[in-house]
Amino acid sequence: MHPCPSSPGNPREVLVVGAGLAGLACALDLRAAGVPVRILEAGDAVGGRMRSDMADGFRLDRGFQVCNTSYPQLRRRLDLRALGLRPFTPGALIRTDAGMRRFSDPTRGLRGCADLLPGRMASGCDLAAVARLAVRDMAGPMRVVKGGGDRTTRAELAEAGISEEFVETFFRPFLSGVFLEDGLETSSRFFHLVWRSMLRGTLCLPEEGVGAVPAQLADGLPSGTLRLGAPVARLTEDGVTLADGTEVPGAVVVVATGAADAGRLLPGLPVPPSRTVTTHYHAAPASPLREPTLVIDARRRFLNTCVLSEVAPAYAPDGRALISTSVLGECPTGWEPPLRSALADVYGTDTSDWEHVASYTVRDALPAMPPPQPLTRTCRFTKGRYVCGDHRATGSVQGALASGTRAAREVVADIARGTVDAG
Ligand SMILES: Cc1cc2nc3c(=O)[nH]c(=O)nc-3n(C[C@H](O)[C@H](O)[C@H](O)COP(=O)(O)OP(=O)(O)OC[C@H]3O[C@@H](n4cnc5c(N)ncnc54)[C@H](O)[C@@H]3O)c2cc1C
Repeated sequence: MHPCPSSPGNPREVLVVGAGLAGLACALDLRAAGVPVRILEAGDAVGGRMRSDMADGFRLDRGFQVCNTSYPQLRRRLDLRALGLRPFTPGALIRTDAGMRRFSDPTRGLRGCADLLPGRMASGCDLAAVARLAVRDMAGPMRVVKGGGDRTTRAELAEAGISEEFVETFFRPFLSGVFLEDGLETSSRFFHLVWRSMLRGTLCLPEEGVGAVPAQLADGLPSGTLRLGAPVARLTEDGVTLADGTEVPGAVVVVATGAADAGRLLPGLPVPPSRTVTTHYHAAPASPLREPTLVIDARRRFLNTCVLSEVAPAYAPDGRALISTSVLGECPTGWEPPLRSALADVYGTDTSDWEHVASYTVRDALPAMPPPQPLTRTCRFTKGRYVCGDHRATGSVQGALASGTRAAREVVADIARGTVDAG
């Protein structure tokens, strides 16, 4: 990463506001096209919603999240080997009223697939409907996956022939951890994209935490491109004004913040409602589950839990296990006793000696994506003003990177046409 001190600026530069994934992707592509660019980031590091902290030897992502190896933008932009990606077991464990069940992917091997026998977790009809859905989303062309009408995911699953009972046992608990809402109100187009990426790729974590992803992107920027601790207060005719009153000139401004900040900087921009999530981290003297598997709860006492140190050992110091558990919304007082007891039930272990390490509540974690949901939107806002970020595509790593890519493409095209005067 190459932070630069404040400098007067070049009026022909493109200013990118925000060094999350979208802003970094946009700046990298502008530089690759020979356009001078400067990123102004409010925070003290790059990454936005994808950052990691260290505390007492534990690696704590700012909210549990995962990378998926099938995301085209990740594959294209990152050296995945250098990230040291550590995989989760494909599928998930589900705590049902009848005990723990494993939802596995039979296309990756039959070991551990016993719970897919009819009647164990789902009826034969449900299993056949899920198999049809999997074939459509895994093998079908992208236009089929993305295309067609849009409706809620709940309506789509019903249309696919999946019973209400199996939706409640598996899809609702599993997808609530992806959508960060638990009514399956999210766009079915987005659901199909998510389902395809799960079938085609592997969920994983960089061994040094998810913050390693934006850090690697930032390392590709030339020295002097990035200015940290530079919150933009407003856009002006000639660039932007920082919160401390400094004017930074720029011919073009790309707002690459989250949706709410983008709405403040670009009055009139539609701002979707957002989803909030809290991730709790606990340390245990021994791992309560000796496998790198996501665990979900059919009773929906939490969104998901896993032993992070089983996925990536460097997440915890030697001799300790780090457990992540996410819940929807804020963190109410008195949250811990019921959560500890739910975790004791799910992991089948005593959790009274677990130590609470930290909790992160992330407001505006994801934009809401109700139907009808365009999966990408133009980044052009007004002349010389652009907007990108996950809220302009899909609420995901892939969506944020793709939106930043699109913003750069549109800026470069407008410079070539002479519509804007930068470069
Ligand atoms: C808890 C959580 C779990 C998630 N799980 C997953 C997952 O499993 N898989 C997946 O694909 N995606 C997941 N996501 C979504 C993914 O992380 C985001 O979609 C993506 O990181 C958004 O990137 P962005 O660049 O659009 O926005 P952001 O990351 O929000 O970046 C915006 C940047 O703009 C800066 N900024 C804001 N205002 C200003 C200003 N006025 N001046 C200067 N800078 C400013 C911010 O500081 C920030 O750095 C998750 C997100 C969260 C929070």
